This record gives sequence, structure tokens and C-alpha cells, in this order.
Amino acid sequence: MAIPVAKRDRVNEARCISCLDCVEVCKTSATDALSWGPPKKLARSWSQAALIAIMLLCISGAVVAAYVFPIPSFVQTFDQTRDAQPERTATLLMEVNNLSCRGKSTLFAFFVDRDDLYEIDGYLKIEACPGPSPAQVHITYDPAMTDEGEIKQAITESYFDSEAGFWRHSPFDIEGYDPLDGDE
Ligand code: SF4
Repeated sequence: MAIPVAKRDRVNEARCISCLDCVEVCKTSATDALSWGPPKKLARSWSQAALIAIMLLCISGAVVAAYVFPIPSFVQTFDQTRDAQPERTATLLMEVNNLSCRGKSTLFAFFVDRDDLYEIDGYLKIEACPGPSPAQVHITYDPAMTDEGEIKQAITESYFDSEAGFWRHSPFDIEGYDPLDGDE
């Protein structure tokens, strides 16, 4: 990668591909010119195994935190097409099946923002964590304009696409919600 390793105390170049060929070439050197591992200061007081254990603990902690405190990776506010956020809003928390990726999230937003019999009035904001079912979804809405039942209906009812001339069936279902009676 044309990195002048002989002139470096530490290789920080982004173009280093970590092949470690340079370490391999120099490892028999009496001066140990190149090495790989934790910084020497740390290595004096911490064994490499301890540093790897700390690193694994940090990674495990990050994975657990991502599950316990998920951060929405899909957010849609419909700023251009819907009312501005009112002073008082309500939030509907749901677990939605089959919301597995960003493409499905876009389809989910299509059903929430539909323009037919099940259209939802007023302000809406979707915050979703698409992934393995069920995916967590928060929908913030204007309680003066709609309610939880209407939002759940919009998500689960089929949509008739009059331009294309066919029904689009919703692939989504909501944990604990039965579209036939609308009760939880
Ligand atoms: S690890 Fe590979 S790419 Fe990086 S400096 Fe060494 S030889 Fe070059």
C-alpha cells in the first residue's frame, strides 16, 4: 500500500489493509521493529488476554444495549404532506411482524399515509426499528384527529390502488391486534 512503515512509530494510514505483511517480514528482527498488539504502555500492565476480554465485554454490552434501548433506524415525519406537529400528541407503541428491512419500512409508511377509506387525518410520525419479528414501532399522532384503532386499521387493511387497478394486501400484522374485531 506504499506506506513508508520504516519511518513510522505507528501505522495509522487509512489505506493500510491490515494484511500484517510488514509485521511478518520484520518479526525476526532483533530490534522487533514492527509489532502488532495493544500499545506497549498498556501491554506492560495488562495481559493481551485481559485486553481482549475487555474488548469482548464492550462489544457484548453494546449488543445488549441495542436490544434493550433500540434506536429507530427508520424515521418518517411527512413534513411536506401533513399537518405540523400539534401542541398535544399521543404515541402508539406496537410490535409489528414482517417489518424486516428498510424496503418494508417504506411500504409500512405507505400504508400509514394511505389516501383511501382508512386514511388517517392530522400529524403523523413513524419511528421504527426494522429487524427480526416483531419489530418495535412508535407512531406519534394527533389525538384530536385520530386514535389508535384507526392507525392499526390503516396498517393492516388492504389498499385498493385505483391507478393500477388492484388490491395491495398489507403484509403487516400487529402483536395482540385482531383486524376482524379491532380489539386487543
Ligand atoms: S499491514 Fe499491510 S498494508 Fe498495512 S502497513 Fe503493513 S504491509 Fe502495509
